[in-house]
Amino acid sequence: MPLHPLVTAVQAWAQAHRRGLAWGFSLGLTGLAATAFGLAPLAPSATDLPQRMVTQTLLPAVNLGDQLEALSDVPLELYRSDTTRKQDTAETLLGRLGVNDAQAAAFIRQDRQARKLLEGRAQKMVRAKADASGRLIELVARYPAEQRNLADTHFLRLTLKRVDDAWVTDLETVELQSRVQLGSGTIRSSLFAATDEAQMPDAIASQMAEIFSGDIDFHRELKRGDSFSVVYESLTADGEPINWNQAAGRVLAAEFINNGRVHQAVWFKDAQRGSYYDFSGKSKRRAFLASPMEFSRVTSGFAMRFHPIHQRVMAHTGVDYGAPVGTPTRSVADGTVEFAGWQGGYGNTVIVRHGGDKTTLYAHLSRIDVRRGERVQQGQRIGAVGATGTATGPHLHFEFRVSGRHVDPLKAARNAAPIPLAEPSRGAFMAQAQVLRTKLDVAATLVGDSGRGD
Ligand SMILES: [Zn+2]
Repeated sequence: MPLHPLVTAVQAWAQAHRRGLAWGFSLGLTGLAATAFGLAPLAPSATDLPQRMVTQTLLPAVNLGDQLEALSDVPLELYRSDTTRKQDTAETLLGRLGVNDAQAAAFIRQDRQARKLLEGRAQKMVRAKADASGRLIELVARYPAEQRNLADTHFLRLTLKRVDDAWVTDLETVELQSRVQLGSGTIRSSLFAATDEAQMPDAIASQMAEIFSGDIDFHRELKRGDSFSVVYESLTADGEPINWNQAAGRVLAAEFINNGRVHQAVWFKDAQRGSYYDFSGKSKRRAFLASPMEFSRVTSGFAMRFHPIHQRVMAHTGVDYGAPVGTPTRSVADGTVEFAGWQGGYGNTVIVRHGGDKTTLYAHLSRIDVRRGERVQQGQRIGAVGATGTATGPHLHFEFRVSGRHVDPLKAARNAAPIPLAEPSRGAFMAQAQVLRTKLDVAATLVGDSGRGD
C-alpha cells in the first residue's frame, strides 16, 4: 500500500528538520498524543469533532485506509521553540523554527509591533506553530519586561497570530510565576561542577556562595566531600524557566556542610526588607566578608598559589588569590579608603580603614577604582586583579590588619558579631523557617541519587 500523502508529508518534513527532534509536533486535536496509526476512526467531518473524541479507545481491526483518510482532514500543527540571536533576520529565525513563509517574514519585517521580535536584546524565547507546509499559524515570544521596576516580576508576551488571512499582534505584560525547587550535591571537583550535576542555575550557586560569604571563603576552603542542599525559587514565563534574569529565582533556604561544619540559612522578609538568617534567627550578614572576590565560575577555577617572590622578599603576611587579570576586587567591609596608589613591591594598592583599628589591604591590582578619602561599602568594587609590583603572576594579595598586625581574615570575618532578628518579627520567622527546614530536609535526601552516589 502506498503511503498516505499526509504521512509522506510528515516524513519529508521530519527529514528536513532532522536536527530538531527535540521539538514535538501534534495534530490539530488538543491533547491528542497518539501516533498517526494509533488513531481511532474519526467522525466524517474532522472539523466538527468535539474534544471528547480524543479520549475514545482504540477499536480493534480498524481500517487503516479509513483512518488515514479521516486523519488527512485534521489540520496538522507543528510546534517548535528557539531563542532569537543577535544577527537574526525574520528569515533566519523562522528558518530555525521550521517555518517557510515569506508572507509571515515580510510581516515581521514591516509591522511596528511584530518588528519588536528582532529589536532590542536577543535571547527572546520564541515558540512557533506552523502547519505541515511550513506556513506560520502563530508565534509567541517571551522576553524581559522593558521597565526596570518590572524586570524581576514580569515578562512581555508578544503574540503574532494569523486570523483568516490577516495578522493580529498582541503585546502583553504578564506576571512571572515562581516555582519552588530543591537541589543538592556533593563537591568532588568544584562547586559549579556539583551544581551543574544537580542541574541548578549558576545564579543559585553564586547566591549560595554569597549567603555563606561570612562563614566560608569559597575560594580557599572548599573541600572534596563538602555537601549542600538548597530550596530555591525559579521564575517561569507561561511555565517555561526564563533564560534572561541573572537574579532568576532566589535561594529560600540552604545548608552547606564545609569540612564537617554545618552552615544554614533561611530567607526572611520582615516589614522592611528581606535577608538571610540562620535557623535561630541570627542574621547571616556580617561586618566582614570572608573573601575579597566574588565567587564565580571564572574565579572558582583558579587554584590557590604561593608566590615565591613574596615568600623570599618579604614575610608573607597575607592571603593570595589566583585569578585572571581584571577580576573585580571588593572591599570586605564598610570603611574609608586610606591609601590608593603605588606601594613598592605591592604595586597598585588600596588600603581601607574599617573604623577603629582594623584595615584591609588589596595589592598587585591592575586598576584602582577608588580615591583616598572615599567612603566604600561592603562588597563595593575597589579595583581589579593584576600582577603589578613583585608578582609572579596575576593574583590578589589580601591582608587583614588589626592595629597594624596581620590577622587571619577568616577568623576576623567569623568573629564579627551577627545581628539578631528584630523581636516583633520572630513569630513569623519561626513559622517560615520551620516550613523551609522541612523542605531542606527533603532536598538533602535527594543527594543519594545524584551526589553521594559513589
Ligand atoms: Zn601575597
